[in-house]
Amino acid sequence: MKKRNLLERLEVDSVICAEGFLFEAERRGYLASGEFVPELALENPEALKNIHKDFQHAGSDVVEAFTYNGHREKMRVIGKEELLEPLNRSALQIAKAVAEDVQKDQEKNLLAGNISNTNIWDPKDKDKQNEVRSMFSEMIGWSVEEGADFVIGETFYFAEEAFAALEEIKKSNLPAVITISPMGENIMRDGFSVIDTCKELEQRGADVVGMNCFRGPNTMMPYLKEIRKAIQCHMAALPIPYRTTTEQPTFFNLDDTKGCTCPAPHGRTFPTALDPLYCNRYEIKSFAEEANALGIKYLGVCCGAAPIHIREVAEALGRKVPASRYREKMSNHFMYGTNERIPKHISDYGDLA
Ligand SMILES: [Zn+2]
Repeated sequence: MKKRNLLERLEVDSVICAEGFLFEAERRGYLASGEFVPELALENPEALKNIHKDFQHAGSDVVEAFTYNGHREKMRVIGKEELLEPLNRSALQIAKAVAEDVQKDQEKNLLAGNISNTNIWDPKDKDKQNEVRSMFSEMIGWSVEEGADFVIGETFYFAEEAFAALEEIKKSNLPAVITISPMGENIMRDGFSVIDTCKELEQRGADVVGMNCFRGPNTMMPYLKEIRKAIQCHMAALPIPYRTTTEQPTFFNLDDTKGCTCPAPHGRTFPTALDPLYCNRYEIKSFAEEANALGIKYLGVCCGAAPIHIREVAEALGRKVPASRYREKMSNHFMYGTNERIPKHISDYGDLA
């Protein structure tokens, strides 16, 4: 089957992109929370491959190379700068192998390279900005060499860092997906509004513009509606699966008000004690349906996502994916099922269980 590029697919269909590998790798025991460096690309390549395979099974059309935070600055923070290029290449090669490993009659997945917030961007410091650009440029170069179909620039909370990322991606001639992540101030850190940032990204030639991470469905959707009215290009939406609120719009300052008796030793629920604040799968499905109805065609779920969430997104789009085989079947439950073999005295017991 012919492999279509990102834009060919978006012309006729939605594209699902699984993300959130930091949290998923951490839950599986292959990554340190807080530090968040994807060293598993080198140390446990099999584990990384399995994560990609599981999200592919759940319906992702894209395998995004897990190079989030795998940039020069973060590698310096952990004292392993010499591993920068090997880590990037390994992550890209693992992702590529999974992207190509599909059933015979299926279209291959797209391979995405990834750059992201560097956390050293300084609106007043040109030298720092140039350093950020060179960090982007080297990672984009490795993505091109390893065969990426497009590049994702994501999780930017400085508008001008997002513009710089776009500019660097465009030099590679690959399609650019740029998603921003305003913090709880509800404005970009350098003063741009969310809408103006997206309009500017469209003007500057991004192929897909939208939002990812930090915000759950409740606090991302209002912005998506506004952005959809303001831009004409393809849009992306990848929320976190947590119940953020108007008062606490991102997961960084989300309180657990559910009677927690063992708070995290570091004093906040982010990132290791967010579990009670999780969205259920129906909330994710409902978000995907709403986004789809708005004409937002590039969909996924970010930090916190498990493969079941991607299956919900796929099914919200009316798709049947390999993981749909194991969709819930309450009809056969021993107490709540409707199967004729379930004894009445057991189903009657259900409300007392
Ligand atoms: Zn995320």
